[in-house]
Amino acid sequence: MGMVAQILTRPALSVRSYRSIFVPKFSSLDLAKPILAALSDKGYHTPTPIQAQAIPPVLEGHDLLGCAQTGTGKTAAFAVPVLHHLHTQKLDTTRKGPRTPRALVLAPTRELANQIDESFNTYGQHTNLRSTPIFGGMSQHHQVRALRRGIDVLVATPGRLMDLMEQRLVDLRDVEIFILDEADRMLDMGFIDPIRKISAALPKRRQTLLFSATMPQNIVKLANSLLTDPVKITITPHASEIPLVKQSLYQIPRDAKPVVLEHILLDEAVERALVFSRTKHGADRITKRLSKAGISAVAIHGDKAQNQRLRALQAFRSGRVRVLVATDVAARGLDVDAITHVINFDLPNEPEAYVHRIGRTGRAGAEGIAISFCSPDERNYLRAIERLTKTRIKQVIVPMEMRSSPQSDAQPYIEDESPRPARQGPRGPRQDHASGKKPPFAGHKSAGHKGKKKTAKASSKKRQARSGPGASNAANAHASHPSGFGAAGKRKRERPGTGVAKAVR
Ligand code: AMP
Repeated sequence: MGMVAQILTRPALSVRSYRSIFVPKFSSLDLAKPILAALSDKGYHTPTPIQAQAIPPVLEGHDLLGCAQTGTGKTAAFAVPVLHHLHTQKLDTTRKGPRTPRALVLAPTRELANQIDESFNTYGQHTNLRSTPIFGGMSQHHQVRALRRGIDVLVATPGRLMDLMEQRLVDLRDVEIFILDEADRMLDMGFIDPIRKISAALPKRRQTLLFSATMPQNIVKLANSLLTDPVKITITPHASEIPLVKQSLYQIPRDAKPVVLEHILLDEAVERALVFSRTKHGADRITKRLSKAGISAVAIHGDKAQNQRLRALQAFRSGRVRVLVATDVAARGLDVDAITHVINFDLPNEPEAYVHRIGRTGRAGAEGIAISFCSPDERNYLRAIERLTKTRIKQVIVPMEMRSSPQSDAQPYIEDESPRPARQGPRGPRQDHASGKKPPFAGHKSAGHKGKKKTAKASSKKRQARSGPGASNAANAHASHPSGFGAAGKRKRERPGTGVAKAVR
């Protein structure tokens, strides 16, 4: 997967000037033989960008702050150097009893904990190192037995680990490397207190690696409290790597979004759609409305219990449910093939999230379709997205038949008539949006019906003229298909146990 990697320079954290090293092959990384052999068995010869940038400083014992999401090869980026360290570093043989974990990985969900544990077992298969996952939702019996047998790497969800710590069933005194994976998702799931308690129970002298797909203020704060002089790496998918995604945009009032969504999803050409909502409540509302309209939909977000999320995912994966409504955080790490459509019901306020979202469709050489709804209060988000992706997303004029609910005789809504203005002032949400006030738009229930139609027509003309011939064609193609898709729809601190850095580099 092609990625663009760059060094993060966030003012809230001290910045180490770390120069990335061009690494053509794993074999040039001076890794222990059994680990190189396991990578080779897997057919991995060339590190992904995050691996190329993360492995050398982690081997040297630095703390690391990685801004990257699942799918970038992030797991091996920490598992490989951790295994190398544990394999090459002699155990304290004077200690009696079973081996206690020397590396601790915290992950938000049981699925991810399992996946990480599997990676440690795969990359460590030719070593004598042992990894075990522990998570809630099942009896702790087997997990405690595994701990008693002795392990080197513990991969845990914060809740179950706290339970075992409170029962004094887990000994974390020997942890040398602490890894937090998908930290933003853990915070979103309310794990900040367990994370603080767990990190307080670890030895002060340790190496800490923190990975997060986004860097909101709470993550920067957490990173500041846990990491010492970290190397910072950010990996973002490059806009030019999404050529197989056909993007289009509806500029519609907020109230019109559910109606247009229904119309789009009633088209059977939309085989498997992922709909993004900015909020958890929004995701629930959308799902409810779609279900009422006879469209099979499920929601996943941070407020859903683990088993609910699993059930929803299984239903979506198996095709029993055609639509999955998700928040950015919940959708992260989801590995679902053949998503034909990504629909941004709300535009994300971080433009990078747009790229991540639409990258969920159009995988494995298939053409994907990304449709975004932009209400007047989201225009600054749209500008930020277009600036990042260096494209102007083709705008679609909403066909008349999409302007009222397919399920009722409700009044049609009026299209937002204000033009897409040239950007003025700094990027970011508008004042009125930031303050939570609802921005004004030509709402479909407030104005007179007749006048509305006229305005919509005039607005369509204006917009076509503004957007140029390309947009006009897109609009026509769109209007020619019942779903509005046209043809497209078919288709350096010292690490404890010194000498590692010297031994490796
Ligand atoms: P992750 O981001 O860790 O979930 O990894 C995403 C996928 O990339 C997983 O299926 C990994 O097995 C795979 N992968 C990780 N590293 C490499 C590599 N160097 N070359 C090819 N595939 C890789």
